[in-house]
Amino acid sequence: LPQVIIIGRPNVGKSTLFNRLVGKKLALVDDQPGVTRDRRFGEAHLLGLDFTIVDTAGWEDDDPSSLPGRMRAQTEAALDDADVALFVIDARAGLTPLDEEIARWLREQSVPIVLLANKAEGRQGDGGLYEAFSLGFGEPIAFSAEHGQGLGDLFEALLPLIEDKQPEAPDEDAADEEDYDPAAILKLAIVGRPNAGKSTLINALLRDDRLLTGPEAGITRDSIAVDWAWTDPASGEARPVRLIDTAGMRKKAQVVEKLEKMSVADARRAIDFAEVVVLLLDATRGLEHQDLKIASMVLEEGRALIIAINKWDVAEDASGLFNGVRAALDEGLAQVRGVPLLAVSARTGKGLDQLVGAAFTIRDAWSKRVPTAALNRWFDDALAANPPPAPGGKRIKLRYITQARIRPPSFVMFGTRLDMLPESYRRYLVNGIRRELGFDAVPIRLTLRSPK
Ligand code: GDP
Repeated sequence: LPQVIIIGRPNVGKSTLFNRLVGKKLALVDDQPGVTRDRRFGEAHLLGLDFTIVDTAGWEDDDPSSLPGRMRAQTEAALDDADVALFVIDARAGLTPLDEEIARWLREQSVPIVLLANKAEGRQGDGGLYEAFSLGFGEPIAFSAEHGQGLGDLFEALLPLIEDKQPEAPDEDAADEEDYDPAAILKLAIVGRPNAGKSTLINALLRDDRLLTGPEAGITRDSIAVDWAWTDPASGEARPVRLIDTAGMRKKAQVVEKLEKMSVADARRAIDFAEVVVLLLDATRGLEHQDLKIASMVLEEGRALIIAINKWDVAEDASGLFNGVRAALDEGLAQVRGVPLLAVSARTGKGLDQLVGAAFTIRDAWSKRVPTAALNRWFDDALAANPPPAPGGKRIKLRYITQARIRPPSFVMFGTRLDMLPESYRRYLVNGIRRELGFDAVPIRLTLRSPK
């Protein structure tokens, strides 16, 4: 992986930047005091770019007056290994003599420098931003590590410098994901608000009473995952399913009011374990705000989602309810049109085979790979039918598209002036991929890249 090193005086936000770029993987970073005293390494992901980020946090301990000298000793070697140095200043504080001293020192180095004016959210950073031009490293990136602002600009700046050092596969576990076996066990999680009927549904599927249920929400359950074979009524075939009961992952029953919040936490946990998530609604309550929140989260995490309205046996105005939920989903889940919606009754067994069948079907779509040639045939047609706009008289060039990953299907589109591409055009392409290439109702990702 290419190495990007963060350099700057104390307090400009280097650690926040480091954490922002490393994100979830922070836990893997060895930041035991004394182990990596003057350098900290993390695996960074930025809009599809992978690199090692190096934080020189050890300088924080140094006497600021001796900083430049120490810096030379501690970081010249680090800089030799680095492909890029991110020089961070504090846009709110403006330039300090120490910043200028670091800049002088950096100019003597041979590594490319990207200048980041941090804390630039709002207007208070404007002054520092303009001052930063005088450092001689070109246009500073207005950045906010705290608010995640300027990540796109940082990507643009880093791309030409480290693109040729990107690993072949865009993700380290992409290799395992290459081989999708439709016969493999289906990892299915049932999530939903307390009392939606999750346990009853799991029992109905398993046809025994191994999970406790009752009118009281949040009864203690100790089961976490149950492996079971579903008999496909169409083919008579037995297909393996791992049912994940996230509520069971909780140790003990909690009070109901807490459980309301827990259902979101449960869903988050389910996402880690499941390929397909079933969000169970209660027909007697309809679609509630919390449900939409869970649904969005599942899709944002790139999992396949199915929504099932349970207790259909006691639903009043069934068709009105169904259409109302459909409309609310299409409006509230802008990221994926047409998420599968089914009516079920855990009590009578209605719709349960359709539910499991739909889960297998959507897993196939979520795991599908379109060959690059077919993808680009569609792409050329889509561009011909509706050419990209030309903001300021200069046309945005879209060159080609590849599918980088499956589960969820993730596409990378290459072209120039992609930062000018309107959201509406991007949506046009995403909808096209969905409709024309068979990715209906699954979350897909589209990353834009400008080659060197
Ligand atoms: P959980 O908190 O989501 O696991 O919900 P439970 O499975 O414990 O069910 C909550 C209540 O709803 C219980 O009283 C169930 O008997 C009832 N229930 C579950 N499914 C259905 C259904 O399909 N129809 C009806 N009428 N009641 C149901």
